[in-house]
Amino acid sequence: MAKIGINIATGSLQQAEMIVGIDLGTTNSLVAIIHPETKMPIALKEHGTSSLVPSIVHFDEYGNASVGEVAKQYLESEPQNTIFSAKRLMGKSYNDVKNNANFFTYKVIDDNTDSLVKVQVGNQFYSPIELSSFILKELKQRAEHILKTPVTKAVITVPAYFNDAQRQATRDAGKLAGLDVLRIVNEPTAASLAYGLGLRMDEEKTIAVYDLGGGTFDVSILRITNGIFEVLSTNGDTYLGGDDFDRLIIQHWLKEKGMTEEGLHSNKQLAQTLRLIAEEAKKQLSTQEVFEMNNPLFATDNSQQTYDLRLTTYDFNALIQPLVDKTITSCVNALKDAALTTADIDTIVMVGGSTRVPAVKNAVSAFFGKPVNDTVNPDEVVALGAAVQADILAGNNKDFLLLDITPLSLGLETMGGLMDVLIPRNSKIPTKVGRQYTTYVDGQGSMRISVFQGERDLVKDNRKLAEFNLTNIPGMPAGLPKVEVNFLINADGILVVTAKELRSGVQQSIEVKPQYGLTDKQVEQMLMDSITHAKDDIQIRALVEARTEGEQILVVTEKFLTKNTTLITKEEMLATAQAMQALQLALTMEDKNLIHTKTEELNEITRPFAERAMDEAISSAMKGQNILG
Ligand code: AMP
Repeated sequence: MAKIGINIATGSLQQAEMIVGIDLGTTNSLVAIIHPETKMPIALKEHGTSSLVPSIVHFDEYGNASVGEVAKQYLESEPQNTIFSAKRLMGKSYNDVKNNANFFTYKVIDDNTDSLVKVQVGNQFYSPIELSSFILKELKQRAEHILKTPVTKAVITVPAYFNDAQRQATRDAGKLAGLDVLRIVNEPTAASLAYGLGLRMDEEKTIAVYDLGGGTFDVSILRITNGIFEVLSTNGDTYLGGDDFDRLIIQHWLKEKGMTEEGLHSNKQLAQTLRLIAEEAKKQLSTQEVFEMNNPLFATDNSQQTYDLRLTTYDFNALIQPLVDKTITSCVNALKDAALTTADIDTIVMVGGSTRVPAVKNAVSAFFGKPVNDTVNPDEVVALGAAVQADILAGNNKDFLLLDITPLSLGLETMGGLMDVLIPRNSKIPTKVGRQYTTYVDGQGSMRISVFQGERDLVKDNRKLAEFNLTNIPGMPAGLPKVEVNFLINADGILVVTAKELRSGVQQSIEVKPQYGLTDKQVEQMLMDSITHAKDDIQIRALVEARTEGEQILVVTEKFLTKNTTLITKEEMLATAQAMQALQLALTMEDKNLIHTKTEELNEITRPFAERAMDEAISSAMKGQNILG
């Protein structure tokens, strides 16, 4: 398979540009690359700083955005203009998030509809896509600063449970940030890749990926065969994570001091300090048995000698036990959904900062009955895997072809010679896509299925791969047959096209080798052409679509007139005939606007007829006649 990059702006081919891997996380985000010399994945960081960029956007009074650590400082003091967890809003409507509305300290617009949510800061409105794009832009700039080269291409990870809308929203955020998102990869898949899993052709494995971050938990069961990752099941709790551990520690200390949580609400300073100390305690307890700190906020008379805040690993483990148990229940459910048992799991991969807690690690390991993989930094593992995937896409990993992509789009010829893409270019193989079509002519007994490859809007500019006729479709009125066409590309890159008329079951299929006879150079040329002709193609597509619509309305009107002569006056008949003629004339010209106008005019004239026909049908039915008769 060919792997080439094209700079959409300049059209130049870029064979060797660095593609970065990005983990766009709920709490933290980061960028990773494959080191050009060591060939190992590394997370990018400026000297002396962390690779993690808090996924937080702060807006100042002029609407200027800052991202990361800088923005995080405003979390407590300016909750209205400091947006965290935007990822939780991706592709969601207010109705989707209203149950958790209290979680957000900023204003999520409640329009009580299913349209996508917006966040209001001052008098500005931001979509989660825009908010995420601010974070991605920051990551892009960071990477460019560190690598001293422009970064325009990325692989971005998303949770395995993200639906199409959420994946598309992530892609759009990338685009908005000036990134060409070559692939959206599932986080558990990326984490597995970082451990080198799935990189060998003959490898067959079932993996459990346990991901416990700051605010979210999920577990995914993956199956790898021949370098292809399949998500068998996912489970989890999108409001469970290390932050909850911190909260439990705070509650424990407050109880010890005889304080209530309400008291804490009124003392913001104390609340913030306590949260930081609790997190620090938790982290220390990952490597030591006791945490002790003398904190002046709790100072008593003899506090110089005694430690005010103390927590042992033993007590901490007892505190978090119910939450850890909850995650194990999710593992049970994930296995159940995948119809597997713990014995079927070959490998366990740990992701997320909270998996550093020994009690968590032990519980997971005990449940699956195996040691877990935890040698890669759990905060970075997803980004590192995204970098591995990016490297494969860049063509640097020659041994690894099957987790690969279709270099050109594959589609069918539809009305007016238009290309209807079923499998877009850059789709991972194997892949399967189905779409339904119907007939345009009454009693149409066969349908021609012409398969094309390429990026142009008209099939005549693309490459024809195959053609066959689906015959023996039983005679039915136009629009009634349901012909489902399936495109399946198997792991060897063979495309199988199947067409089936669903009402009658008539079926036919053909096998094609899309790559056959195409050199990398030709693929490049086809991509280049699609870019150079993009503008013309859009215009031609619009014209062809307008013509198809115009032609269809002419057929429908014609049919209506012959059937319903009694419902229409002479004058109306004349006006209709004139409008039809005008449209027919427009169809011979190249002006899509004229066709639209003439189509609309004909529509206007005939609209009352349809209503009359409907009334007539209803009154006939009321007289006891069959409405369809
Ligand atoms: P993530 O969302 O994957 O970045 O995970 C962040 C969470 O991991 C936060 O709740 C952190 O407090 C937690 N975390 C980071 N380091 C440690 C550690 N050493 N021990 C326990 N929890 C940690």
